[in-house]
Amino acid sequence: MLLRHTPQEIVEREALTVNPAKTCQPIGAMYAALGIHGCLPHSHGSQGCCAYHRSTLTRHYKEPVMAATSSFTEGTAVFGGQSNLVQAIHNIFAIYDPDVIAIHTTCLSETIGDDIPQIIRAVQDEGKVPNGKYVIHCNTPSYVGSHVTGFANMTKGMIEYFAENTGQTNGRVNIIPGWVEPSDMREIKRLVAEMGVRSIVFPDTSGVLDAPQTGSHVFYPKGGVTVPQLRDAGESIATLALGEFASRPAAELLDTKCFVPCQILDLPIGLQATDRFINALRETTHVEVPSSIDEERGQLVDMILDMHQYLYGKKVALWGDPDQLVALIEFLLTIDMLPVHIVTGTPGKRFEDRIHALTDGIVPNVNVKQGPSADIFLLHQWIKNEPVDLLIGNTYGKYIARDEDIPFIRHGFPILDRVGHSYFPTVGYRGALRLLEKILTAFMDRQDRDAPEESFELVM
Ligand code: SF4
Repeated sequence: MLLRHTPQEIVEREALTVNPAKTCQPIGAMYAALGIHGCLPHSHGSQGCCAYHRSTLTRHYKEPVMAATSSFTEGTAVFGGQSNLVQAIHNIFAIYDPDVIAIHTTCLSETIGDDIPQIIRAVQDEGKVPNGKYVIHCNTPSYVGSHVTGFANMTKGMIEYFAENTGQTNGRVNIIPGWVEPSDMREIKRLVAEMGVRSIVFPDTSGVLDAPQTGSHVFYPKGGVTVPQLRDAGESIATLALGEFASRPAAELLDTKCFVPCQILDLPIGLQATDRFINALRETTHVEVPSSIDEERGQLVDMILDMHQYLYGKKVALWGDPDQLVALIEFLLTIDMLPVHIVTGTPGKRFEDRIHALTDGIVPNVNVKQGPSADIFLLHQWIKNEPVDLLIGNTYGKYIARDEDIPFIRHGFPILDRVGHSYFPTVGYRGALRLLEKILTAFMDRQDRDAPEESFELVM
């Protein structure tokens, strides 16, 4: 009983978070920056921040995550980080030769108040940015927001620095996939190509954080959106931004800066959200949905119908990122499961209202909470008061799964103790099939384990 001290009685808390359902802003900025081809993320802060962010990403993706740091010391805290950053930019271009350095700030540099755009201008004026190379930035103070906010900020930074509109139209659709796995980005690109739509997907970590073992180390893997593509994003016919929290800011900036109209959609997780994504592609580009995609959809519907008896009425507790949760919860409701406890540590508008709208009339008294005190400790207390059949969330829920003996599906960020998320998508119809397979396997394994001998079934 690792969490034996979690009390069933819930006391309102304001100044204490226990096991938060979020992590640090710069982690998201670093992940997004890795989705630019030839980019070296740079953490403007102390070595400890950078080491934590790199190790969390490395543990989740099981890939070496390269990033540089301004290596703040006590002196930097007093005099500011400008000289460290100027020196760092010079060293990075001289030694590591990236196409882009993507700087994000940290708690300390934000508190000092370092003016990053001014430092970048100074470095450019000194001629320390080689021709054809770029330095971009975003602000990621970690005492507000979460890793999702950091991802959104760096994605917006890509538009601020690169997108241009020269009055031409490239006939493409921008897809901002949000914080999803490299496998999901790959699957989104496959679906879009299957529809016959030409796209620019950014950020794109496929081919970067799921790169193959070739026997030789490649500092900048093949994947990632290129700088010319990011520039071209300003001339696309439309933007489909997947995820209110991770993708809306960049899409809206593209609209105001380059007049590219945007639609904000949910992540295409599950049947209905994928339908809306495919429909948006169809309407935006006036293409027909090919029979191959109809077939994938039909397979998903078939499995939902075949296995409905295992899913109906099962209660679920979920935690994680708001964009993921909204889409997952809609999918669970589609298959007649009942999401009853939901927490996200990422602050922002419209999340709780959206969950209440989705569950209204279906899940009476749904528990949903967002923000600093919406933590996994509270989720555990809710579970003690109203038990569930399934847990869905990141690795930090494994203690609850063990103590309460509840089947557990790992989903979201970070997953530190399992593999597969980098390679097997959960978006699209095929991704929903995989999610369904995982849910059914969890329930059937539980049934096999608990069945008395006389009702232990070979065929289920
Ligand atoms: S919370 Fe702030 S100080 Fe801590 S690792 Fe993140 S950026 Fe660094």
